[in-house]
Amino acid sequence: MKHTVDVAIVGGGLAGLTLALQLSRRRNDLHVMVIDRGRRPAPERTSTVGESFAELGSHYLRDVVGLADHLDSRQLPKFGLRFFVGDQEDLADRFELGVLGTDLCTVENGRLAGLPLRTHQVDRGRLENELAVRCVASGVELRSGTSVERTELGPDRHVLRLSGDEGGVVEARWVVFATGVDGPGDRPAWRSLNHRATAVWLRVEGDLDVGSWSDRPEFLARTPPSFRRLSTNHLLGRGYWMWVIPLPTGVTSVGVVADPDVVDLSPRSYPDLLEWIEPRDARLAAELAATRPADERLHTASLEAGVAPKCFSGDRWAVVGQSAAFVDVLYSPGADLIALGNTLVSDLVERDLDDGRIAGRCAIADRVFQGLAEGFAEIYRGHYANFGTREVVGTKVLWDSALYFGFNTMLFRHGLSGDPAFLSRIQPELLTVRSLQARIQGRLRRGDIVPMVPGGDATVEWGSVEWMMDAYRGAEAQPDEEHVLRQLRAVLSTLERVGRRIEGNA
Ligand SMILES: Cc1cc2nc3c(=O)[nH]c(=O)nc-3n(C[C@H](O)[C@H](O)[C@H](O)COP(=O)(O)OP(=O)(O)OC[C@H]3O[C@@H](n4cnc5c(N)ncnc54)[C@H](O)[C@@H]3O)c2cc1C
Repeated sequence: MKHTVDVAIVGGGLAGLTLALQLSRRRNDLHVMVIDRGRRPAPERTSTVGESFAELGSHYLRDVVGLADHLDSRQLPKFGLRFFVGDQEDLADRFELGVLGTDLCTVENGRLAGLPLRTHQVDRGRLENELAVRCVASGVELRSGTSVERTELGPDRHVLRLSGDEGGVVEARWVVFATGVDGPGDRPAWRSLNHRATAVWLRVEGDLDVGSWSDRPEFLARTPPSFRRLSTNHLLGRGYWMWVIPLPTGVTSVGVVADPDVVDLSPRSYPDLLEWIEPRDARLAAELAATRPADERLHTASLEAGVAPKCFSGDRWAVVGQSAAFVDVLYSPGADLIALGNTLVSDLVERDLDDGRIAGRCAIADRVFQGLAEGFAEIYRGHYANFGTREVVGTKVLWDSALYFGFNTMLFRHGLSGDPAFLSRIQPELLTVRSLQARIQGRLRRGDIVPMVPGGDATVEWGSVEWMMDAYRGAEAQPDEEHVLRQLRAVLSTLERVGRRIEGNA
């Protein structure tokens, strides 16, 4: 039987489900269908990766998709990013950069409620199950256990041929591909962003609490017990970094990401992985050996940074999520790319319903999205070789963060990331920041910098770095566009000043 909908979303992972909710929150007269070959509920504890959300993506989930209550009550607050560089067994002997004290935090009953820009660590199975329930409650038609076998794009309607639990034929005005890594077979090849990495990951039982990996009084006194555990913890060395992320379901996510041009990372089993980690980080290896895997197997992936050549078409189709772009995993940009792509599509669908004139808008949306993916790729390409150098890592993290808060996060939080009028107003600032960024990333890549952090086993309190915090605080609600513009210019002038210091010209 033929079925007609306004928007058919192929793929009901994070991108597809959030887009469906976003659309239905904007226009409750829209008939949205999500088709996914998987079945709900998904298992908790051993679901997809994408467990740590950064400031842009968290804002999207909390405020645009409306999940703040779920994230606050059923997932974990994130204590920011934390970086340890060095291989000493006692963590107090390593360089540490992250939030240390509680000045920035909201603490409720001795527990972390969050930092000013709330971020989260999530169990993906739990999150997607909740999204699916909310989709159905808002009238989204969810077809699970069902595959889209073929899509025929037409001038007025697109035709989707489905097989599985709820097979049949669906006609849709819009079709959005949110198919993740394994998109539909006829997807055009990605444009390479010239960066690749190898990743290996799994979850282990219980909490790996990096905050307990030292007995030194000064280490323990600096940060309340159990707070460090709530960060996205990064343990870095030359050519690689490892993540330790707590999940709300009694397991810890652990992963390694390496640049194959610098370090070989090809373990075939969990014991292989422990053997790889041992000489690089004996402390992590010992902690892992004392627990047991929660996943049935080790997950591995060869990651290629790339972006779909066209994500938004005037013929009313779009590509979002991991089928639209992938850059790297450091800093957790996956949900950010989902947030931007989904918001651009939602704008286009609304505009199409209003006046049908979307061709020009699609071209702008493509430029904006490609620009973000390219900008993100720049911060990973060729940088892994320096991940064992504390001063470079510290300087890079602060620089990358200031730019991320001051530009990407602030524009998105104020609904301006895809606004053609505002973007054309800030063209001069965007051009300046792009060339400044290329210069500083080049320096960081070569390790040719004046560091913005002390070396050795120093600790750097995130909140004490005023120039970065100005960008962080400025990303919070600004009353209007004029204030956003003023803040953007202030961040740019700070970055130019800091950039000169990094280059040794100040
Ligand atoms: C190692 C690693 C670590 C990561 N860590 C983070 C992180 O910390 N934070 C972060 O934000 N991001 C992270 N990411 C990225 C994150 O995983 C992705 O951004 C996110 O999962 C993409 O969601 P998606 O909905 O696009 O794709 P998916 O979650 O893969 O969903 C795609 C869905 O489409 C369905 N599907 C596919 N084809 C069809 C079809 N023909 N018919 C019906 N259904 C179909 C699939 O069943 C699936 O459910 C990480 C990625 C990797 C590889």
